[in-house]
Amino acid sequence: MKIKNIKAWPIVMPLEEPYTIAYETINTATNIFIQIEINQGIIGYGCSAPDKPITGETPESVLQLIDNVVHPMIKGLDPLRHSFIIEKLKNHLNDKPATLAGIDMALYDILGKVCNLPLWKLLGGFRDRMKTSVTIGILPVDNTIKRAKEWLDRGFKSLKIKGGLDVEADIERILKVREVVGKKVELRFDANQGYTVEQSLQFINQTRKAKLELIEQPTPRGQPEMLGSVTQKAPIPVMADESLMSLLDAFRLARKDLVDMVNIKLMKVGGIAEALQINSVARSAGLEAMVGCMDEATLAISAGLHFALARPNVRYADLDGNIGLINDPTRNAVILRDGILYPSSQAGLGCEFCE
Ligand code: MG
Repeated sequence: MKIKNIKAWPIVMPLEEPYTIAYETINTATNIFIQIEINQGIIGYGCSAPDKPITGETPESVLQLIDNVVHPMIKGLDPLRHSFIIEKLKNHLNDKPATLAGIDMALYDILGKVCNLPLWKLLGGFRDRMKTSVTIGILPVDNTIKRAKEWLDRGFKSLKIKGGLDVEADIERILKVREVVGKKVELRFDANQGYTVEQSLQFINQTRKAKLELIEQPTPRGQPEMLGSVTQKAPIPVMADESLMSLLDAFRLARKDLVDMVNIKLMKVGGIAEALQINSVARSAGLEAMVGCMDEATLAISAGLHFALARPNVRYADLDGNIGLINDPTRNAVILRDGILYPSSQAGLGCEFCE
């Protein structure tokens, strides 16, 4: 079995509704789709969602690397020697996690197709579905409430509210949302690095009534000890997102007891193989994991879902980055029903390209 050809191409996917977080406003997502063809006629699909502020990559840099580095290095290799290929590529793509994630994904898709099994079963098959939260960007209170009601009407039972630009306004918004949505809806909050330790604690203390499920990355990514200061005093779980980019980050966060939970995103960490290892480190330290995502096509969401379904420690999902993407050619790769994500029953990652 040999890799015969690798193709990569960009697709620009505008968002139905642009959204704002603490450090940027997003109105379009450009993903790179990857196709790895092997000599037995099987094709594996991958997707890379570069995000400059987080992964340091752009659609152009991903395309260049695939054409100039990945293609010559892996053509002719056995696609089932996943670890061998990924380790070989890591020497050149170590700080290019979204590029690596796209290749890792396509290789896993091939593995599933060769075995004729959905990937989540091949990787362990712990659960067969997962509830996901859906995100509401930073908006005025009235619009936040309107949006929250719309999502609940569509069947979602878990909302993630973004903040981090103005602590007082965030507190007001969260309390109001809880009042309107009632007790049963899960509410998560993500400050995207926007707070100091003091602001984080102020926010947590003054939103106690709202019974938040967790607070995600309240403080800047490069100073994980700040997360530790919040975690020590916070009565709700504190989760690392931007501070967790690698296996080493996971180990450091876990060893120093700096957080209660971690948000594992394939595009940040370099794919499913790395995510599985990070999850093992988290589990060994008693940290629960959430699978998260970027603004990424359903194919990439599917890869995140298959990873999460396979492992008991990944108890939470925030896999909504494909919702509202226009032009997503892989929109059928997962099934979303009433806020619950199901994998398709097809082999591999279940992706078929559509017009
Ligand atoms: Mg986050």
